[in-house]
Amino acid sequence: MVCKHDLGLAAHDKGTTNMSQFSDHELRILEKSHITCADVTALLGGFVDNELSPSLRDRVHQHIRSCSECRDGEQGYREVIQLAKTLAPVEVSGDVKKRLRQALNQRLGLTLAVE
Ligand SMILES: [Zn+2]
Repeated sequence: MVCKHDLGLAAHDKGTTNMSQFSDHELRILEKSHITCADVTALLGGFVDNELSPSLRDRVHQHIRSCSECRDGEQGYREVIQLAKTLAPVEVSGDVKKRLRQALNQRLGLTLAVE
């Protein structure tokens, strides 16, 4: 197991390789031969927002095509994003933010930071 820092691929490194664009988590997933539902869940936000690298996106796409649970998760995530876009911006207290994140994590299996 080689850490990306050992390979000189730290995020600030402007090397010739484009591996530096991957987070540790994404690198770990790219190294696997099969990605799991948990991996897909962790990448779902980036997948829906089209922020994943093409290779990761393909792998998530492949998994979602053959896994109805993740397909439901993706659908739910997209619905939440769509709904959120229709809402006017509101200032919410830290407590409400925290509970909203907890609820989203629970319902959609997301990993939003809840401090
Ligand atoms: Zn799945």
